[in-house]
This record gives sequence, C-alpha cells and structure tokens, in this order.
Amino acid sequence: MRYTQSGLPANAVTHGSCGGWWTGLGRSHCASCHETFSGESAAGRHRVGAHGVDRRCMDPATVGLVARPMPFGTLWSWPAPEVALSALRGGAVAS
Ligand SMILES: [Zn+2]
Ligand SMILES: [Zn+2]
Repeated sequence: MRYTQSGLPANAVTHGSCGGWWTGLGRSHCASCHETFSGESAAGRHRVGAHGVDRRCMDPATVGLVARPMPFGTLWSWPAPEVALSALRGGAVAS
C-alpha cells in the first residue's frame, strides 16, 4: 500500500470537517455524526425522522449495524454481508 506525505494511504478519502478518513469505494460518511458506513444503505439505516423536521442520527449499534475495526477507525456495516449474499445466491458459504 502506498502512503502519502500525510501518512494516509494514497487512496484515502478525507473529510475536512472532522479530519476523518477512510478507504474503499462506495463508503458513506455521515456529515452529522461523522461515522463512516460501508455504503449508502448502511448509512441510511442510522438516519431517522422526517427531513427538515426531526431528521437525526441514531447510534449505529442500535439499528442493527455492526462495527468493524478498520485502519481508519470504525466502519459500520450490515452484519455478515458475505453470508447473506451467499444465501441469496443459494450457494454454500465458502470456508
Ligand atoms: Zn449520522
Ligand atoms: Zn466527518
């Protein structure tokens, strides 16, 4: 892995507001609570309430998301997506 002068991986995405960073295509970083999610669907899961009324963030752990330790911190994602996808395809889980 290549690193930039700032010490971050060359493919890191940074958020200036909080100084957070992450890597990976399709990640979703919340501009309100600054948690990083595996994707749009996972991020949407922690946002509740009506737009412009009481739209707010939930603690990701309370809405069924799982914290995965990553080099950049916590990545919130769906529980065991690989297993779920494999089940959808009707195939056995490779081990
Ligand atoms: Zn949030
Ligand atoms: Zn942020």
